[in-house]
Amino acid sequence: MPKFFDTASLKIRLTVGIATVTVLGLGGLAAWMSMQMQQMLIATHKENMRYIASRFPQDVAIYSDMIPLYQGAQRAIDNLSTVNKLIWLKNPQNQIIVKSKGLSQVKIDKNLLSIDHVSLAPEVQKLNGKYWLMCATPLKVKNQHLGQLYLAYDITHDQVMFLDLIQRLAIATIIFITIMTAIIAAYIHQAMLPLKRISKLTASISVEQLNQAQLKLEQAPTEVKELAETLDQMLVRLWTAWEHQRELLSNVSHELRTPLTIIAGYIQSILRRSNNLTEMQIEALTTAASEAERTVQLLQDLLDLARLDANRMEFKQENLLLNDLIEEVVGMAEQYGDRQITLELSEELISIKADQHRLKQVLLNLLDNAFKYSEPNTPITMKLKLQNSQAIIQIRDRGIGIPLQQQGRIFERFFRVDEARNRSGGTGLGLSIVKTLVENMGGIITLRSEPNQGSTFTLTFPVLELI
Ligand code: ADP
Repeated sequence: MPKFFDTASLKIRLTVGIATVTVLGLGGLAAWMSMQMQQMLIATHKENMRYIASRFPQDVAIYSDMIPLYQGAQRAIDNLSTVNKLIWLKNPQNQIIVKSKGLSQVKIDKNLLSIDHVSLAPEVQKLNGKYWLMCATPLKVKNQHLGQLYLAYDITHDQVMFLDLIQRLAIATIIFITIMTAIIAAYIHQAMLPLKRISKLTASISVEQLNQAQLKLEQAPTEVKELAETLDQMLVRLWTAWEHQRELLSNVSHELRTPLTIIAGYIQSILRRSNNLTEMQIEALTTAASEAERTVQLLQDLLDLARLDANRMEFKQENLLLNDLIEEVVGMAEQYGDRQITLELSEELISIKADQHRLKQVLLNLLDNAFKYSEPNTPITMKLKLQNSQAIIQIRDRGIGIPLQQQGRIFERFFRVDEARNRSGGTGLGLSIVKTLVENMGGIITLRSEPNQGSTFTLTFPVLELI
């Protein structure tokens, strides 16, 4: 069962990988662009500030020819200051001597004047929600050190606009990345679909369909088509190998069955005819005969299966009167198994279309199992009835039963519930042959069983006609 978020899945890995690269790429680009924009934004202010800082001493020097130095400085400040450009001068004792008019306004924060650590190069500082570009430079006029000149530009408006822009850029980037990731995920999902189809198609191919199976994929990428072709070729090779194996099994079974049947026959006749055998010899010959018969049965089963697999078994479908056929089968089984079978036959005569020989084989096999897997003193019932226009044949025993978890596998080849409980040396092929035969004749077989209570095998066939 595939997990919803399987970290090992190629789809998830590709999506996460591409999404990470997109986030890093676009995020990095956005960050770099923001830095560049910030620098461009304050570059003009910085330039202007440097210009004023360099021009200021000359202005003061010109004014000082007419008025005292500090008055000259005040005049220069008044000339150069605007609402957003503030200038002040601190004497060497760190007292403010002259300042822009704007600085006297109550609105201007007093903290601005008390800032001591102002660098020579213009720097942005944030004070009570306002952004200031500030620098300080020593003021020397006519070889006289007047103190420290401070310049402060209010760049709040520009900075707020810039931050707003950055915010929009970040939101746009996040939305873009989310949409990109969704599109990429959908695209990768779409690209992986042919692979999923291949795995679905491959899983649905049964052994019997190996030669006809073709993984046809239209509109799939070339690589996937190539994979499908390779798989197709492998299926053909598998089919050939499977055919060889089946043929070998069929030939070996056929070759072994005849001599073994002869051996079993000879042993039986020796046992019947010789009256001077010791007890040990009789025991050894009896074991040899029963083992030979068991092996002949196994070979017969293998042959049947090989024929069924290769569709080489012929079914002579004919009208059968089940009432008669079942009575005959019960008679044969009672004789062979030396057990009493209770027969419950429907009053109505029920006819179906089936192969007489194969149906007998099926019923005898089921009765044989009922004998094998129940105590000799327990009842065995065979029932024939008509239900919903279907012929129902039931074989019921009161034997060891089959545990629920094993019931689903009971019709598989070579499946035996538990070797320890199987007293009889079966092969595990009987029920799989029974099922294939029944289905080939148009019927179905079901099982109801409970451990230590017994088993009921039910055969259902469409009724041919009611007589
Ligand atoms: P086997 O030759 O072993 O009898 P089958 O294919 O006929 O092979 O049966 C498969 C297994 O199913 C048996 O080994 C046995 O464990 C179980 N089984 C079949 N019929 C019955 C039954 N009537 N009661 C209990 N177990 C059964």
